[in-house]
Amino acid sequence: MFNKIVQSLCGGLNRREARRRRATRTGSAVLRLRSLRSLRSGAGLFLFIGIWLLTSCTLPSDMPATPADFVLVTDAPTQMPSPTAFSPQTATPSLTPTPTPSPTLTATAQPTLVNGGRTQYILETALDYDTKTLAVKERIQYTNHSSDALTSLMLAVDPNRWSGCFNLQITTVNGHTVTPNIESMRMEIPLETPLVPNETVIIEMAYSLNIPVKQPKQVFGYDGNWQINLVNWYPFIAPYDAEDGWLLHSPSGVGEHLVYEIADFDVIFNVSAEEDVVVAASASTEPQGNTYRYQLEGARTFVFSISSAFSTETVSSENGDVTSFYFPNYAKPGEAILNAGARALEIYSRRYAPYPHEHLSIVQTYLPDGMEYDGLIFMGTNFYDEYDGTLKNNLIALGVHEISHQWFFGLVGSDQALEPWLDESLALYSERIFYEETPPYPVTWWWQWRVNWFKPSGWVDRTIYTDADFRNYTNATYLRGALFLEELRQRVGEEAFNNFLQDYVATYTDKIATGNDFFATLDQHTNVDYSDIVDEYFLNR
Ligand SMILES: [Zn+2]
Repeated sequence: MFNKIVQSLCGGLNRREARRRRATRTGSAVLRLRSLRSLRSGAGLFLFIGIWLLTSCTLPSDMPATPADFVLVTDAPTQMPSPTAFSPQTATPSLTPTPTPSPTLTATAQPTLVNGGRTQYILETALDYDTKTLAVKERIQYTNHSSDALTSLMLAVDPNRWSGCFNLQITTVNGHTVTPNIESMRMEIPLETPLVPNETVIIEMAYSLNIPVKQPKQVFGYDGNWQINLVNWYPFIAPYDAEDGWLLHSPSGVGEHLVYEIADFDVIFNVSAEEDVVVAASASTEPQGNTYRYQLEGARTFVFSISSAFSTETVSSENGDVTSFYFPNYAKPGEAILNAGARALEIYSRRYAPYPHEHLSIVQTYLPDGMEYDGLIFMGTNFYDEYDGTLKNNLIALGVHEISHQWFFGLVGSDQALEPWLDESLALYSERIFYEETPPYPVTWWWQWRVNWFKPSGWVDRTIYTDADFRNYTNATYLRGALFLEELRQRVGEEAFNNFLQDYVATYTDKIATGNDFFATLDQHTNVDYSDIVDEYFLNR
């Protein structure tokens, strides 16, 4: 079914490939503004296929770790970056499970082996917006691409870091019920017979989430009655490495800990809400009533933000459509980040590789920073508040930063916990690339107030566990990472630097790159000795 739908939409071409070819054909983007549009889902009853909240077992949980405060721009030396948390209104969660028939696992969407055996996630999901509960039926088709026989599968189940949030009802492996071993955010699923190399297994699960109150520095959760953010909301299989085993790290006080394999997503999302709500997601679709079906190929995450308060505006271009989802009275910054986002998509599509998806969502939320996921970025409301009508502010700088993660995080994956510089230094440097291509070219301003003002120090190649100080982390990983790339660019020259970046993205698209891969690719494009620069910025290289 999956295959057929893709073929019917793209005339037999793989959708992603079609996007790339289209983007390659056209140089500059012609933007056309679509009319203001709100996707309204009808209210009313819905039936979710077979499952609903039945159990509410409390699984072991630890407190959610505080995520990174992202680097902030200062526009005056007297102004300190203020990652002070907002105080979103909170509400007592209404967690009254609705008894319904026993969970069954009869997914309507049948997985098929496509795209070289990439992992497929089929998620049939029902959200009750008013009670903040989510019922999910999940099917994973996983092929063992390693040379090891796997005796179990390790899944990340991030919602289980919140007490009482994740309620697993049933798990099956190839149709046989199994009992996973769940400890905090780790779910180990035993395999009766080892999964040998190139063998495929089907995992099915039914579970519900009692969506927690969104903490000020967290993306996940609900914020009053006006927004629910669903990120890392479904169990997913951790990447497996023959040397290091399952790449499933614990949270730290800074940075991101999860590592994602590339996968395909087929998501059916049913929303029931008293009020009209607007759904932002990692892809776009036309809803049928209150049911949305999304298909996203070649992504690492699939996320949602649902709000009764969103207005939307969309810009279409050959590089992909961009939609800005913003709250009332934020039309001006909402439109500014939309236009900067469309421009960033054009610049990075040309400089790195064509944007791999058809759509990008830019979503306002209460957060003291920005946050990237495939096809969707979140931006903190304070950036919208501060917006001054120019390019020289956090909204634009951090907005294009998060968008550049579509290439350095989405297309080219990396271990965000152990080598956070790989995506963050390139994302920060991508801000510079945006500004060097965008009048009035405020590159000097950017270096002064985004980087040098902080007097950055520290080794670029630190992990998120080196220490949990936000400023130390960002100074080293982001800011000195950008300084390193600037020195490197000047040393090897413009042509070699740009060729290297394009080759790096092309070579490691859909893969998880390492620092060794980064430098091995670089060495294919230059004979210039840059070892003194590496010594200056890297501890272990
Ligand atoms: Zn970043």
